[in-house]
Amino acid sequence: MSGPQETPLVQRLPSTVPFVGPETLERQRSQVFGARLGANESVFGPSPKAIAAMEAAAPEAWKYCDPENYDLKVALAAHHGVAPENIVVGEGIDGLLGTVVRMFVAEGDAVVTSDGAYPTFNYHVAGFGGALTKVPYRDDKEDPDALIEAAQRTGARLIYLANPDNPMGSWHDAPVLERMIAAMPKNALLILDEAYVEFAPATAVPPIDVDDPRVLRMRTFSKAYGMAGLRVGYAIGEQGVVKAFDKVRNHFGVNALAQAAALAALEDQEWLEHVKKAVQASRAQIASIAEQNGLTPLPSATNFVTIDCGADDAFAKAVLAALIEANIFVRMPFAAPGNRCIRISCGTEADLNLFEKVLPKALSAARA
Ligand SMILES: *Cc1c(COP(=O)(O)O)cnc(C)c1O
Repeated sequence: MSGPQETPLVQRLPSTVPFVGPETLERQRSQVFGARLGANESVFGPSPKAIAAMEAAAPEAWKYCDPENYDLKVALAAHHGVAPENIVVGEGIDGLLGTVVRMFVAEGDAVVTSDGAYPTFNYHVAGFGGALTKVPYRDDKEDPDALIEAAQRTGARLIYLANPDNPMGSWHDAPVLERMIAAMPKNALLILDEAYVEFAPATAVPPIDVDDPRVLRMRTFSKAYGMAGLRVGYAIGEQGVVKAFDKVRNHFGVNALAQAAALAALEDQEWLEHVKKAVQASRAQIASIAEQNGLTPLPSATNFVTIDCGADDAFAKAVLAALIEANIFVRMPFAAPGNRCIRISCGTEADLNLFEKVLPKALSAARA
């Protein structure tokens, strides 16, 4: 019997998901994780003011949300010293990445990223039929020169780079990125994914230039602001590029509670400072646990620490499996040579105590 037919593009797509959620693993294992250190969520939570704003907005949930995200956009514009017309709010960076690929990539168009970089971007490129070229990391960092070279060679429409980087936690200083932007081929757009920017040193953040239509900066409330479950992110860019989002974006995508919470969170910079301090302490503790076990923590400008397990990817995978077996949710970087590492998100005291307790056993299990 012939049924409905997917488009040829969708028929060709592999049946993969960008991330398997910890909930899926919990269902498979019939057990809730004792520590959730695998998705770079902020265990320190959202600002209490953001929680209060959601409570206040809840009875009004019968209303459609503001499709222009106006109040949040105006507040973000003031925060960044740009105009509201330079900002588009969306369902997290993940949602915005899908929209931007839809806007700029037709089937067969070239796109460039790094091998092992954020997989949701690749997922969207595949979904719109883009031709993705991946260049290797260099010294555990994304390699701006290689990205530019590949973009020139392939005539890329989009170039993706995260700074600071996930999964390695590394970063480039602003002048490196500015040189990269200056060298970009005409007609290409750089997606500068700054999901972790609040944790980065000021020297790693180039000034925002909304006159340049070739760069889109992407930010999120999921990481430092501790609201990953709400799905709010935004892009900062040149007005024409930002306006074009209106042609295809999901106008009611960011719900009313999420908009209210993001606005309140942005206004509570004190909470953000508190989280940044907690993250710094947690990073130091993860690094110290790694070193006590003879492993090498890599420098991080994020809310996680990537740990070099000192052997091959099979060994890192075995350590990871043993940690999951010991009821800690973790993930590992995806491509060689980063796959010699495991990645541990910052946690509470209790989370890290559990990690400290089970890591030696996980290492012995992996060595056995
Ligand atoms: C976590 C993460 C995101 C996801 O952001 P959302 O706003 O939650 O969609 C995007 N990019 C990178 C590099 C990330 O690590």
